[in-house]
Amino acid sequence: FDMFVLAFWERVFRPSFRKDDIVLGKKLGEGAFGIVYKASLSKPKPAVKLGDLVLKKATEYGAVEIWMNERVHRACASSCADFVYGFLESKSKGKGAEEYWLIWRFEGEETLFGLMQSKEFPYNVETKILGDVQDLPKGVERENRIIQTVLRQLLFALDGLHSTGIVHRDIKPQNLIFSEAARSFKIIDLGAAADLRVGINYIPKEFLLDPRYTAPEQYIMSTQTPSAPSAPVATALSPVLWQMNLPDRFDIYSLGLIFLQMAFPALRTDSSLIQFNRQLKRVGYDLDAWRRTVEPRAAPDLRKGFEILDLDNGIGWELLTSMIRYKARQRVSAKAALAHPYFNREGLLGLSVMQ
Ligand code: ADP
Ligand code: MG
Repeated sequence: FDMFVLAFWERVFRPSFRKDDIVLGKKLGEGAFGIVYKASLSKPKPAVKLGDLVLKKATEYGAVEIWMNERVHRACASSCADFVYGFLESKSKGKGAEEYWLIWRFEGEETLFGLMQSKEFPYNVETKILGDVQDLPKGVERENRIIQTVLRQLLFALDGLHSTGIVHRDIKPQNLIFSEAARSFKIIDLGAAADLRVGINYIPKEFLLDPRYTAPEQYIMSTQTPSAPSAPVATALSPVLWQMNLPDRFDIYSLGLIFLQMAFPALRTDSSLIQFNRQLKRVGYDLDAWRRTVEPRAAPDLRKGFEILDLDNGIGWELLTSMIRYKARQRVSAKAALAHPYFNREGLLGLSVMQ
């Protein structure tokens, strides 16, 4: 009944848009499959107050991205940027000129990528999330608290997606936007996502993935699983496939790398992350072995990460090593990670109100 009321409400009150309603602003990004602009409405719609918007003009994967955003909007809205509307915009000039337009609320100027570029990180995030009331002097303990809060927000958002049956497959700092309104990070860019419960975008498009943040498994589903099942078949099978293959752990590996970058200033550049990936591969994806090889001659920028993660008897290091593991099924789930003692420390006063 609730679903019916909600669907009715949405049909009557949710605004729809056409090309002429949108005024383009500055370009925010350009990928292989679309261009993203800041945007606004040419004339405000009376029933809704939307403020600044983001418009993505997408090519072939636009349809999947609209589908994913609609689903997230209904099932786990707080996990992702607030989706407003999506439609197919057919250009007049012949075929092959079809474009999907997707509209979101503008969540804010900063991605985690931009914030991590700053020398101030993680203090530049602290003021955004917690305001400037902090009792601790600057140092590893305070940085650990901030990183903890960010990681919890990211796990919370990811757990929302995974509980809905969606695997994102492109979790990276560039796709984590800081929402000024929610005072928290949200996930964006569902263009490479897969919904395993209904079989949408079921076949992994590995060429869509970013090699810097991908887990070692090339395919998130075993290559033994049937390819391209029709939707009804997928609906019947996929909960089982989900259990067998644990495709959500693909995102957990990527988030583990982001946790690593937050803790280690020395690993925040592209080239150092690529070098880390190479080193980790060389030691068979054993994070403890990696530590043994680099720690003895670690520069301060690297040592700091170990200091942060070693606090409270190494509880942070323990969580990190349970996220970055070669075998998907040995990685912790988002839900289990949220229950990890890393987040239950005494003295986390006030931070729990953030979720
Ligand atoms: P791409 O396919 O180009 O990676 P994204 O969906 O990741 O497209 O968007 C590109 C960039 O646009 C993001 O990195 C972010 O800076 C900005 N952006 C996207 N969505 C939003 C939003 N809802 N609010 C604010 N900025 C956004
Ligand atoms: Mg992106």
